[in-house]
Amino acid sequence: MASPSPDHIPFALPDIGEAEIEAVVSALRSGWLTTGPNAAAFESEFSAQLASIGGGEVTSIAVNSATAGLHLALEACGIGPGDEVIIPDWTFTATGEVVRYLGADVVVVDVDPKTLNVDLAVAERAITARTKAIVPVHFAGLPVDRTALADLASAHGLRVVEDAAHAHPVVSGGLPVGTGTSDAVVFSFYATKTMTTGEGGMVTVHDPDLARRIRTMRLHGISRDVFDRYRSTVPSWHYEVVAPGFKYNLPDPAAAMGRVQLSRAATMLSARRSIATRYAAAFADLPVTLPAGLDLPDDQHAWHLFVLRLNDDAPLERDAFIQRMADLGVSCSVHFIPLHLQPYWRDTYRLDPADFPVAHDSFARAVSLPAFSSMTDEQVQRVIDAVREVLG
Ligand SMILES: *Cc1c(COP(=O)(O)O)cnc(C)c1O
Repeated sequence: MASPSPDHIPFALPDIGEAEIEAVVSALRSGWLTTGPNAAAFESEFSAQLASIGGGEVTSIAVNSATAGLHLALEACGIGPGDEVIIPDWTFTATGEVVRYLGADVVVVDVDPKTLNVDLAVAERAITARTKAIVPVHFAGLPVDRTALADLASAHGLRVVEDAAHAHPVVSGGLPVGTGTSDAVVFSFYATKTMTTGEGGMVTVHDPDLARRIRTMRLHGISRDVFDRYRSTVPSWHYEVVAPGFKYNLPDPAAAMGRVQLSRAATMLSARRSIATRYAAAFADLPVTLPAGLDLPDDQHAWHLFVLRLNDDAPLERDAFIQRMADLGVSCSVHFIPLHLQPYWRDTYRLDPADFPVAHDSFARAVSLPAFSSMTDEQVQRVIDAVREVLG
């Protein structure tokens, strides 16, 4: 197989430096590989960072993926068979699969044409007597209006778990995502997200009972975790299983990487922000729709993704655009293939494209450009030149 040319620009790359490498090596040398001192420090540093950008006090719980975090959060909210959970069509399958783990049903709703975030008016019309929760997604790192979300939830008695897989760090309505009135907020540290631990995630909650349930279910339904038992003066071999829990804890070498990434989160955001600003200026005259939120202050969009939509007068369609970009040495992607087009969701819930006009139309036009924090200025310019050549 031909190897990609050395000047090929990948769609995404983790931004890992010597500090992350040293932190992981030192965790490996410490002898403590499972969840331990690094995970505990990562949790408190995550809460402290949210407080430092204007948030109230929250409990942060490290997990081995956002998917695990979403599962734990909904489980702790008591979601189960017979319940309905509203999710947006424009998301990754993880947002919905966790609802199915619990034996509940998803209700998939269309999104707002500007932001591609859940359309709260459509969501409200989808509420039935069985609806127990809503899981909004802060698509690309642009937060859902959480005041309107909280009003909807309180008017209908819904639990709220935010899928914030794209959304650290970001402030909106004066409050960082991760704080506020939602029951839980779940972040992803997957390899390509805004910060990474390889695989990993974080759940933030403000209710101590919810925090206790999530911590217990994170590790086999055991009432004390291993590190707690190790530190304790009570005999360390004793523990109690209080529920059939899961195995969702974050290993310490990953947490050590996460602590360094967390300390660089603002710097990495400003690199993504300046890429977005350059793209927006360079594409202003092209037959494309730019992403929402370019006019916001720098801290109010996490810029995890930079998604263009090709207009009707673009000289070629999305798939051909991606192929031409690849020929010019630039990998693009698509976020997302909407759930109503995925066989499992389409067939299980008989989803009809006519019920998702915005997501259906946007899918035909959407393309995500490389926009990762370690891109060089020269790489950004090459993406700009390629887009202008293909659409010129
Ligand atoms: C990446 C992603 C997830 C899943 O994150 P993991 O950490 O890989 O489990 C969930 N929701 C959305 C919107 C995502 O993009």
